[in-house]
Amino acid sequence: MRKKAWKWWITVALTALLSAIALTGCSTTDKGEGGTSSKTAKSTNTLEKIKQRGKLVVGVKYDLNLFGLKNPETGKVEGFDIDIAKGLAKKILGDENKIELKEVTSKTRIPMLNNGEIDAIIATMTINEERKKEVDFSDVYFMAGQSLLVKKDSPINSVKDLKKGMTVLTAKGSTSAENIRKAAPQVNVLEFENYAEAFTALKAGQGDALTTDNALLWGMAKQDPNYRVLDETFTEEPYGIAVRKGDKELLQVINEYLKEIKENGEYDKIYEKWIGKKPQQ
Ligand code: GLU
Repeated sequence: MRKKAWKWWITVALTALLSAIALTGCSTTDKGEGGTSSKTAKSTNTLEKIKQRGKLVVGVKYDLNLFGLKNPETGKVEGFDIDIAKGLAKKILGDENKIELKEVTSKTRIPMLNNGEIDAIIATMTINEERKKEVDFSDVYFMAGQSLLVKKDSPINSVKDLKKGMTVLTAKGSTSAENIRKAAPQVNVLEFENYAEAFTALKAGQGDALTTDNALLWGMAKQDPNYRVLDETFTEEPYGIAVRKGDKELLQVINEYLKEIKENGEYDKIYEKWIGKKPQQ
């Protein structure tokens, strides 16, 4: 009788142990180092998955003239980041049209990558240490710097001219919002879901300036000549293509591709097409 009870306890303990191991193995929940818990799709070889499905899925901006803008008439999304994305599809799948573009904002891009909705982010995204805890970055593919967009006749000519009580507009989830708080802690910062909303608010008189990367502000000033971009930049914003952490194979192809287009002149062509001048070496 005693012996039987002992056997029974061993069986129960073993079963509990085995199910615990099985459960841990299946878990897809990953704690980001930033303390945020996010669902992480298995990052094992996204490159293989892209080849199997015959399509590259990229997160891009839809509201940024020159980088990723959806043309309301044609429905097409166009810009610097889009050309880079198409070139990457050609490199991986031999055809630049084997691509699906999905809209991301500065706030949604990392969650959308890490929940598996997109394979990569090519969306005006600055490489920094904080973000490196959540995603892996390619080599730098564009160099920008943060600046201010103001009315043509505005007295603001430097970040130093921002006075207490002034309001500066920008987008949620951007380095622009973090940086302006450091550079001008005396101002009110209003954050919008995306840059199109921030620009509309600026035009409606809700702020004294809009802040983000100079190249993005050039795109806005082009859309409305009543606004100008300051020459001054007060940060460095090196853009990188982001992939899920550990996606080594995909990252390697991306870096090969960036190297190739820099060497064969394709990069300079894309740069001049959208920025209107040659890239500075
Ligand atoms: N490059 C900056 C960033 O990654 C500003 C542009 C953006 O919000 O995408 O946050």
